[in-house]
Amino acid sequence: MNLNEIVQNALPHPVWYGDAPPVVRGAKLRGDAACDLAVIGGGLTGLWTAVEALRESPGRNVVVLEAGHVGVGASGRNGGFVSTSLTHGLGHGHSMWPEEMPELIRLGEQNAADIDNFVREEGIAADLRWCGKTLIATKAHEVTWIERLHQLHSHYGLASELLDREAIQGDVHSPTYLAGISIPSGGLVDPMALTVGLADAAVRRGARIFENSAVDTLRRHGASVHLRTAQGKVCAAKVVVATNAFRPLLRRLRPFVLPVWDHVLATEPLTQSQLDSIGWKRNQGLTDAGNQFHYYRRTADDRILWGGYDAIYYFRGRTESSLALRDASHELLARHFYRAFPQLHDVRMSHRWAGVIDTTSRFTPMFGTAMKDQVAYAVGYTGLGVASSRFGARVALDLLDGRHTERTCLGMVKRKPIPFPPEPIKWPAVQVTRAALARQDLTGRRGMWLSTLDRFGIGFDS
Ligand SMILES: Cc1cc2nc3c(=O)[nH]c(=O)nc-3n(C[C@H](O)[C@H](O)[C@H](O)COP(=O)(O)OP(=O)(O)OC[C@H]3O[C@@H](n4cnc5c(N)ncnc54)[C@H](O)[C@@H]3O)c2cc1C
Repeated sequence: MNLNEIVQNALPHPVWYGDAPPVVRGAKLRGDAACDLAVIGGGLTGLWTAVEALRESPGRNVVVLEAGHVGVGASGRNGGFVSTSLTHGLGHGHSMWPEEMPELIRLGEQNAADIDNFVREEGIAADLRWCGKTLIATKAHEVTWIERLHQLHSHYGLASELLDREAIQGDVHSPTYLAGISIPSGGLVDPMALTVGLADAAVRRGARIFENSAVDTLRRHGASVHLRTAQGKVCAAKVVVATNAFRPLLRRLRPFVLPVWDHVLATEPLTQSQLDSIGWKRNQGLTDAGNQFHYYRRTADDRILWGGYDAIYYFRGRTESSLALRDASHELLARHFYRAFPQLHDVRMSHRWAGVIDTTSRFTPMFGTAMKDQVAYAVGYTGLGVASSRFGARVALDLLDGRHTERTCLGMVKRKPIPFPPEPIKWPAVQVTRAALARQDLTGRRGMWLSTLDRFGIGFDS
C-alpha cells in the first residue's frame, strides 16, 4: 500500500467543508464603524460571545471581525467531539482543582445542556448526537490507566463502564484493542455546521460579521478601543479577543498560548459491508488512552474521521495555513488507521487537513481583561474547546461587565497558567517533552522530566 499516494489523492481541506473550501460570505470591513462590543475572531468562542451578548442585551450593537472566513480556524477543523468537561477531562481536573471539581462538573454539564437547547431551538442542522465516547487501551499499561479513570468516575458519581478485551472488540472490531471504558456523557457534532449555524444566529440577532478583516492593531483611545484592519477601523466601547491559537493582539498573552498543529484524515464513505466489518453499532466517538492519542468518529455520511497523535510545534509558533499539509504526519496517521482496521485496507482517504491547537501549560483556557477592563479574552482550550468555548465566551462577557458569577469565582478562571519560556528555549523544551510523552506511551513510566513538570502543573498534550 503506497501511503504517500493515498494522502496525495485526498482533498486538502477539512471534510466538514465538503468538496471545496467555503466561499467568504460576509462583507469586508471598509471605512469606519462604531459599536458597543467588538469581537475579534469568527470561531466558536467569538460567535458564542456575539450570540450570548445579544441574548443578554438584545439591542446591543455587536461587530465580529474575522481574519479569514467564519470557521477557518480550529472551529471548522476539529474532530467534533463535544465534551461536558471544562477541565480537559476528569483526571486532569481532579489533579488540578480537586475542591472545585463538583462545581466544574456541574457547570460543564449545564454548558452542554445549554448548547443542546440552543441548537434545537435555532434548528441548526449540525448532526449533534449525545452518543458518549469510548476510551481505548491498546497497550497493557493503558489498561491500568482506564481502570483508574473508572474509579474516578465512581468517586464523582459519574457513569462509566469498563469493557474487557472481548467486550471492546465485540463492540468495535479492531485487533489492537485490549480494553476500554465507555463514557456515556458528551457527544459528537459537525463543528463547521455548528460554527456557521452560530454565525447565522448571531446575524439574525443583529450582529454584523466582517470576514477577510484581520485586526492589525488594538489601541485604547479615550473611553473606547480602536481596532484597525487593512481597510477600516472600528471604534468599540468593549472588546472580546477570541483569536485562540493565533498570534495574540495582546502582547501579554503571547507567553501563554502555544500553537500546536494537529493532523486529520477522513475516509471516503464506507459501504454497508465495510461498516459491518467494523461493528461500531453505537456510532460513538472513540479515542486512544495514550498521551499521543488518535481520536476518531464517523461522519453523517459514514466516513471515518481519524486524527491526532502527531502534534507538531514549529519554531516561533508558526501558524500560517501552508503548514496544514504535512505529508509525514498524514502518512503516519494513515499507517495507524490501517493497523487499527486492517479489514478496511481497500478504503481510501478523501480529505486531509490540520489545525492549530491552542495549548496552555495547564491544558485549560485562560481568561482575563486588559486596557482598563475594556478588553476581555478567553483563549487556550488545548484541543477541547468545541463545547467549552461557549463557557469561555460567557466568562469573557462576565469579566467585561465586571460581574461576579459562579464562573468568575472559580480558581480555574481567576488564576493564570504558568507561561511558556521564550524562544529559543521553548522549541527544544517542547521537543524534550514530546519525546518524554512518547517514552511514557511505550513504557508506561512517567519519567523524571514529566514528573517534574507535573509538580509545577505543566505538561504538553493535544
Ligand atoms: C485538528 C483539531 C481537532 C480538534 N478536535 C477537537 C474535538 O474533537 N473536540 C473539542 O472539544 N475540541 C477540539 N479541538 C479544539 C477546538 O476546535 C477549539 O478549542 C475551538 O474551536 C476553539 O474555538 P475558538 O473560536 O476559540 O478558536 P478558532 O476557531 O481558532 O477561532 C479563532 C479565529 O480568530 C481568527 N483570528 C485570529 N487572529 C485574528 C485577527 N488578528 N483578526 C481577526 N480574526 C483573527 C482566526 O482566523 C480564527 O477564525 C480541535 C482542534 C483542532 C485544531
